[in-house]
Amino acid sequence: MSDGIVDILTTASLTHVGRVREANQDSCAEFLSERGMRLLVVADGMGGHAGGEVASKTAVDSMGETLQNGVGDPEDLLREAFEAANAAIFKMASEVPDLYGMGTTGVAVLVASDGAAWVAHVGDSRAYLLHDGEFAPITDDHSWVAEEVRQGRLTEEEAEVHPKRNALLRSLGVDPDVQVDVNQIEIAAGDRVLLCSDGLWGELDDQSIAGVLASEEPKDCVYTLVGLANESGGRDNVTVQVLAMPGAVNTMRLPPLTAEALERMRRRRPRSRWLALVLAAGAAAATAGWLWLGSGT
Ligand code: CA
Repeated sequence: MSDGIVDILTTASLTHVGRVREANQDSCAEFLSERGMRLLVVADGMGGHAGGEVASKTAVDSMGETLQNGVGDPEDLLREAFEAANAAIFKMASEVPDLYGMGTTGVAVLVASDGAAWVAHVGDSRAYLLHDGEFAPITDDHSWVAEEVRQGRLTEEEAEVHPKRNALLRSLGVDPDVQVDVNQIEIAAGDRVLLCSDGLWGELDDQSIAGVLASEEPKDCVYTLVGLANESGGRDNVTVQVLAMPGAVNTMRLPPLTAEALERMRRRRPRSRWLALVLAAGAAAATAGWLWLGSGT
């Protein structure tokens, strides 16, 4: 039985195929360990045939297994989870011709029973943090365009429309070894952590995402954000996970939502039959053992 901060966290996860793609290659899952650690994972797969779906599902399943079986320090476990996922996907891609070259992004947040938290990622799926009234990404995309922006060779605006905007510099399963970024984060009362695939951040600006995140509970927030991404075009699979600390959200330093965004939110709520999968886990999920709460296939 978990015993600690994870018992009072509220979380929700939602993945959707979008409005253009025929298959959903994103996966997501939530895990709760007997040691009282909660793990949320988003993976955005790529590869022909069923490769993308297999890669992303393998990533989240493998990470859950590592955390379940691991005994070490939470930060080390998180890194091990990514490395084991990389190895599992790489092995499968090497053995099954149809899956050759498959890979996936991965972004995860791990909260230990004492409230210490870490974010890890590979690729261009992102984590954002709403903390003390400010909203910002807390991961740096491992993508070609993001590196060009960091080096000053492209502007953000040029990156958004660049033909190579989907090219990743790092992904899980493509090489035998992978470099994982793992960083500890501070989460306090009222804070929100959001994980998402590029189907969300590619369709919506940060201001719109922040406005929804600050104003809705996780289970409503994921529906609203997926609905807005689809309304904005839905050109890619979209996956959103939200983890909320109890307490009122500090919105002091958030820019106001634009009138256009507010109007979109009022007009449109996604209908449940659209939704490939919804996973909402509140305090009631804090039961003994591991809870596999699903992945988006
Ligand atoms: Ca994607």
